[in-house]
Amino acid sequence: MVIVEPEMDVDPLAVTSFFWFLPYAEVKDLGGQGERVFSFEQRFLPADKWSAAEWYYSDEAAGLRAQSDHMVMIQVVNKPFVPSERKPERPEDWLDADIRHTGEKTEIPGYIVEPFTAELKFYVQSYFSFFTKTHDWDSLTMGVLGPQEALQMSAVKVTDPEVYNEDAERTPRRNGPEDIRMGSYDKETPCGTCGKSWRNNFERSCPGHFGHISLEVPVPNYLYLGGARSPSPLLP
Ligand SMILES: [Zn+2]
Repeated sequence: MVIVEPEMDVDPLAVTSFFWFLPYAEVKDLGGQGERVFSFEQRFLPADKWSAAEWYYSDEAAGLRAQSDHMVMIQVVNKPFVPSERKPERPEDWLDADIRHTGEKTEIPGYIVEPFTAELKFYVQSYFSFFTKTHDWDSLTMGVLGPQEALQMSAVKVTDPEVYNEDAERTPRRNGPEDIRMGSYDKETPCGTCGKSWRNNFERSCPGHFGHISLEVPVPNYLYLGGARSPSPLLP
C-alpha cells in the first residue's frame, strides 16, 4: 500500500492513497483533472500504479473490465484530517475513512483485504488509460498504402529540402521536412493541423500527422521486386 509519509498523529497503517479505475465516460463528464468525490466499496486495493495495472488484467478483475470498453486509472485520496495552526477545525466537506493497511495479514502484498465502504476524494490520472476492447476482430489484413490513400492521409506536401527559416527563432519552413502541420514538437507551439501542442497526455496532445513527398520518377521498393533477396539493395 502506498503510505504517504506519515504526518504527526496519523496512524502509519492508515491508507492515505490508492489506485482504482472508473469508466472513461464518468471521468469525462466530471470535466477532467481535479478533485472529485467517489463512493467506494471495495476489498482489494492496488498500492501503486504498476500493481493496479497488473491486477486490472488478471482474472479477478474480469467484472471490472466488463463495466466499460474504456477505463481510466484514478488515484483515490483518503487523507485523515490533522488539525494545524492554519486549519484547526475539520472542514465540513473533509472526506476520510478508517481504511487500514493490513500489512503482514494479507496474502497479496500491497493490497488491503479488509472490506470497507466509504466516500472518498479522487484525482484523475487520465494518462493511465486502459483500453480493453475497441473492436471484435475477425481477421487482420496487412498491406502497403496505395498512392491515393497516402495522399488522403497527408497533411503536407513536402517540397522544400530546407528545414528552418532564417529567422531568429529558426522556425520550421512551410512545406519543409518539419512543417508544423505535421505536428507540434513542444508545449508552446500549436500544431498547424489540429491546433494542439505536444503534451504528455494522450487526449490533449497533438498526435502527429503524415506528410508526403511526390517523387519525380517512380522508385520501386526492392522488397517488392521479387526474385532473389539480399539483405540490402547495396549488397550483391
Ligand atoms: Zn496536430
